[in-house]
Amino acid sequence: MEVLGVDIGGSGIKGAIINTDNGEMLSERYRLDTPQPATPQAVAQTFHRLVKHFDWKGPVGVGFPAVVQHGIARTAANIDKKWIGTDAQNILHEAVGCPVTIVNDADAAGLAEEKFGAGSRRDGLIILLTVGTGIGSAIINDGILLPNTELGHLRFKGGIAEHYAADSVRKKEDLEWHKWGKRLNEYLKHVEGLFYPDLFIIGGGVSKKFAKYQDQINITTPVIPAKLLNQAGIIGAALAAKAQMAPSSAS
Ligand code: BGC
Repeated sequence: MEVLGVDIGGSGIKGAIINTDNGEMLSERYRLDTPQPATPQAVAQTFHRLVKHFDWKGPVGVGFPAVVQHGIARTAANIDKKWIGTDAQNILHEAVGCPVTIVNDADAAGLAEEKFGAGSRRDGLIILLTVGTGIGSAIINDGILLPNTELGHLRFKGGIAEHYAADSVRKKEDLEWHKWGKRLNEYLKHVEGLFYPDLFIIGGGVSKKFAKYQDQINITTPVIPAKLLNQAGIIGAALAAKAQMAPSSAS
């Protein structure tokens, strides 16, 4: 099945046409800047431009950087607060007319990595953390996703974890890779002590830079970078749309 996968992020809105049977991208990736402020109206307009670029009329899957419960945005840590409580799925659907499925961005990335990337053919409990503007999480046990887990918002070091260990913090505080890697390791240790997963996958922009901080990671659980790098969100969003349209053939 062909689905337009879209990843709405704090700085960019990216999309590509995905073959959901093998996770391959059937088009070039197209990116537009996320409007600032990223209000529902402004994002809907940019989303419209992106869908129009592909001249797309089919199903669209969207990864969104917040808790999304059955299409309703419940939080907005890294996107405009006006989204909270809105029917985000319907807002995006009305902007383009195509069927739209919206899920949390980290959950989307987790689905893609589990099926086609670093977690494929791995049983057990996998935790994927997308580390970028914030920290998102996906918990997948034997292929089943527990949605909207928000491990980036755990209380940690007197604040919340993503304010200590996100990649945006590394940039803002101008931390060297090894210093930031130490922070990531502390955070991973904390999550490890709560869930004891079989595998951690590090996604988001820092997955490409794994070699720069790998030597700081010294927890018991294996930690590996995402394989699909930052395309995972786009691919997983397409998978989520497929699952919604044809639940029985989604696995
Ligand atoms: C949000 C999550 C999101 C993550 C990555 C966090 O601030 O609360 O829902 O998955 O950022 O975008």
